[in-house]
Amino acid sequence: MLEAQKCSLCKERQPIYHRRYSGEWLCERCFKLSIIERVKRTISRYELLRYDDRIAVAVSGGKDSLSLLEILQRIERDFPHAKLFAVTIDEGIEGYRTECLAVAESFSRSLGIPFLSLSFKELFGFTLTEAAESKVLERLGINPCTVCGVFRRKALTIAARRLKATVIATAHTLDDVVQTYLLNLLKGEGNLKPVGLRREGEAVIPRIAPFRTTLQREVALYAYLRKIPFQVRTCPYTRTSMRDRVRSFLNWYAANRPEALYAFLNRFEQLLKDLEQPAESVCEICGEPTSRRICRACELEQLIKEGLKA
Ligand code: SF4
Ligand code: ZN
Repeated sequence: MLEAQKCSLCKERQPIYHRRYSGEWLCERCFKLSIIERVKRTISRYELLRYDDRIAVAVSGGKDSLSLLEILQRIERDFPHAKLFAVTIDEGIEGYRTECLAVAESFSRSLGIPFLSLSFKELFGFTLTEAAESKVLERLGINPCTVCGVFRRKALTIAARRLKATVIATAHTLDDVVQTYLLNLLKGEGNLKPVGLRREGEAVIPRIAPFRTTLQREVALYAYLRKIPFQVRTCPYTRTSMRDRVRSFLNWYAANRPEALYAFLNRFEQLLKDLEQPAESVCEICGEPTSRRICRACELEQLIKEGLKA
């Protein structure tokens, strides 16, 4: 950075961040405002929220979700009919989740946002650690992250229903959305759907991702500048996930092509629009939408419970 370099937006203050994909240099104030503005624009461009939504924000205690909660609270001040709730799912990961939960709860309460926490144990009868250490997963050929993802999704829906929420907001960033698209392609997933866009259906509480056009690293910087407290310890199972490898590849690729993730998102979602979406039915056990007779969560729940009893 040159000594005399000024912020590209205010033209006054010293920049603290170089936004490589746009070429802008931003001072702290303009950077923070730019993140809030980007979230507002994303909400309006994709029509993610309505003025009177009851929004269940999924918070894990990490920097992304707490930043989302903080930004949505700022935005929703202009919408007095909307209501925010913070929801945490305790998967029961020994030595990891307790700290996240404490951070999530105290931060939500400091913002005056009602907080609800549900656990795998109370909803499904087992913790993630119990399932992961029981050899059931090895026998089934699935890793802890798959179980975690499937049941967290189901638990979030249950929590949202209890709160009579009309929408669930998750903190998936641009990086997460692109990773999911790539992972789905690599798995040969037949039912490719847009991630984090509002899709209404009778049995569905729509899920939105207001950070879907914000880079992970910019969310992290926002959290740091706002001094948002977050849990820094990483999950003991994180290295087992395929997502982690896809993330490393994308980070490596985007290091030399800063616009790559935006290019992928835009092109891929254009292609998705032209795809015919298969009709969805509902799970015979839980009534949640699925393309199968019994949804993945109900199928896994039965298999894991049987495996734990054996
Ligand atoms: Fe769950 Fe895997 Fe994330 Fe750990 S790393 S919280 S097991 S999805
Ligand atoms: Zn089901």
